[in-house]
Amino acid sequence: MAGAAPITHDVLTIPRKIPGGLPNLIGMSRAEMRDALIEIGTPEKQAKMRVGQIWQWIYVWGMRDFDEMTNLSKDYRAKLSEHFAISLPEVVTRDVSNDGTRKYLVRIAGGHEVEVVYIPETDRGTLCISSQVGCTLTCSFCHTGTQKLVRNLTAGEIIGQVMLVRDDLGEWPEQGAPKDEQRLLSNIVLMGMGEPLYNFERVRDAMKIAMDPEGLSLSRRRITLSTSGVVPEIARTADEIGCMLAVSFHATTDDVRDTLVPINKKWNIEELLAALRAYPRLSNSERITFEYVMLDGVNDSDADAHRLVKLIDGIPAKINLIPFNEWPGAPYKRSSNNRIRAFADIIYNAGYASPIRKPRGEDIMAACGQLKSATERARKSRAEIARDAGV
Ligand code: SAH
Ligand code: SF4
Repeated sequence: MAGAAPITHDVLTIPRKIPGGLPNLIGMSRAEMRDALIEIGTPEKQAKMRVGQIWQWIYVWGMRDFDEMTNLSKDYRAKLSEHFAISLPEVVTRDVSNDGTRKYLVRIAGGHEVEVVYIPETDRGTLCISSQVGCTLTCSFCHTGTQKLVRNLTAGEIIGQVMLVRDDLGEWPEQGAPKDEQRLLSNIVLMGMGEPLYNFERVRDAMKIAMDPEGLSLSRRRITLSTSGVVPEIARTADEIGCMLAVSFHATTDDVRDTLVPINKKWNIEELLAALRAYPRLSNSERITFEYVMLDGVNDSDADAHRLVKLIDGIPAKINLIPFNEWPGAPYKRSSNNRIRAFADIIYNAGYASPIRKPRGEDIMAACGQLKSATERARKSRAEIARDAGV
């Protein structure tokens, strides 16, 4: 663990309740917003233009107040605020690591919490967002996997994570940020809590908002979705989202992958590879990222590295080696640096990029696979969760 000195831990209570339970404009697709505007009496002929105007205020300027939408009439603004909210999830805490990584604990409707991590680098800033509270899957090395699925996030809650971090970075023109500078938040990875392909429609809708050229305008190449291997949804991801794909591969035999990533029992390595082989063509993206967590004595031998290279033969790929991030009670140890380097060399010599992921934000437990909201205890039963949520 890194030294504790310059870390900050702020308890933030930014009240962001949606007044009166009004429908939230954030998270609606353009088509949904259009229907919603027509429903409150916007003439059909004007609806598309109104969506364009409101969309710009929200996603280009970062405005949250209808009153400031000065190209709309006063009466129309009043009507909008009567019927809609522009609202983000609540930020409960923000931790800043001594390497600049920021971890946010974010509260969503129902009182549940998810984590969001911002990782600044010299030429970019990557935001790691969550798609579910907890996860239905039980990968044995993953902290989130010890937490049962509580619920899927809505599209508004998913894109809301991007927006609230832009708020915190002061990156909206509304906050004085110059529009053409290199972006602080330039990349999104769906590598936080949850399995994004088990919440497909909402993740897709949120990423469409992120990619909208007249809004947040992030290129699809700057969005990476990580899946544990939900095979039937992979072709759909190419077709309906078209972002970059990462896959939690982690093993080179079905036996080992069955224990590490149990979804392998449903769709094994062979079936997964077939879906991955088709992805670059279907999505017109260059290559797939294979994530491979390095677990001491489990999946890190030279033989594993050679098998891995053979398995992915013909797939344009980069192999991202992730030193295991330990968490209290974890049943594995991180492979030694020498072992990781030897493994990386075999892959590199076979012609693949094999970067070793530098753990970031370790001092604030923000690293990959360590995310778990502090208030959700491990292995709660569904009944307990329902009781706590008051449902
Ligand atoms: N559910 C998706 C995305 C979230 S996990 C998935 O499984 O791909 C993001 C990445 O972190 C995955 O590759 C996951 O396998 C990895 N990961 C999980 N726990 C980890 C840990 N303790 N140390 C290192 N990587 C971990
Ligand atoms: Fe879920 Fe991904 Fe963790 Fe597996 S690694 S338990 S799929 S979040």
